[in-house]
Amino acid sequence: MSNHSGSYMLNTVLKKLDESSVFDYLGKEKTQIFVGEILDLAFEYDCNPGEILEDLGKRLGVCYYCGRPADEFVGDICKQCNERLGS
Ligand SMILES: [Zn+2]
Repeated sequence: MSNHSGSYMLNTVLKKLDESSVFDYLGKEKTQIFVGEILDLAFEYDCNPGEILEDLGKRLGVCYYCGRPADEFVGDICKQCNERLGS
């Protein structure tokens, strides 16, 4: 049983940070580290990374599926996950 409301709350917070250009200010690498820390924290609260990063993962450079920073995406997941799932 996932914490859906918590996940979507975090999704909204991340979108608001993005709208406020916080991630432009941080730059890619620090954004990826920050988002990774949020995902680690959210895991403890039984949140769903796919919901947290909905419409955001590619923009923030973090794959919701493996939770790792990624530069290349296929759809909403990183290239490595796509290859792993596709084979
Ligand atoms: Zn991945």
